[in-house]
Amino acid sequence: METSTTQTLDNKLARYSTPTRGIRCLSCGKDPIKPGRRYCSKECRQQINWVLSLSKGLLKAFNARYAAFSFTKDHVILDVLPVWTKGISRFVLDRANGNKPAEDLKNLILESGSEWHHMVENNSSRSYASLFMIEKNQKKNIDPKTIKPNRKASLRLSKQEKKCLKILKLDREDLSSEGQKVKIKSAYKKMAKVHHPDIGGDAEKFRQLSDAHKEMLMWAENPQYTSRKALQDCWSYDGATNRWSPPL
Ligand SMILES: [Zn+2]
Repeated sequence: METSTTQTLDNKLARYSTPTRGIRCLSCGKDPIKPGRRYCSKECRQQINWVLSLSKGLLKAFNARYAAFSFTKDHVILDVLPVWTKGISRFVLDRANGNKPAEDLKNLILESGSEWHHMVENNSSRSYASLFMIEKNQKKNIDPKTIKPNRKASLRLSKQEKKCLKILKLDREDLSSEGQKVKIKSAYKKMAKVHHPDIGGDAEKFRQLSDAHKEMLMWAENPQYTSRKALQDCWSYDGATNRWSPPL
């Protein structure tokens, strides 16, 4: 029974390919919500943040390196990758009728927490209780990589560099993939045809263009990025910082 439940769950779990990402409320799953928003209401945001911070005690007890929280129509799922093991332990609870995922997650955390406390009260050591629960829930068929958060990088540009992009008529997106130098050079050539003094262009504008070209080529030697670590379609926890991050 255990295996078949896991398999159905895996099939239902579409968290890495949810086409509606960003439209569903990150807390209750309601859709659609207003564009650009992450939650349908302030209460929703507060509720999920409270529950996720409640989970930190349990995650500490499990010595979690990474964890991920996701939910489907039928289940809430907490995946944990402890420092001690190479595999993921999956804690699952059936959704209760009418409950928000945050409420179900709270119940999952409280249930697991009380199971752990019960063992400790009955003379198991804390680390034994943690290991026991981790091993009991270990799912060898889940790739541990799925809960290691990826970095999402975005360009870091100074004010001056942003000005240069404008002069070259380039977009940020033009620089976010490979071949940045080629794009900068071809943008320069295109704009030089407009501003070159030999063909009647403005000398000052051409000088600005040349400077922008040089500056952006220098930038491309060592592009700067800022990044944040997160998972594509579910909440992720990083044990190193003891923080939960919303989906990318
Ligand atoms: Zn909501």
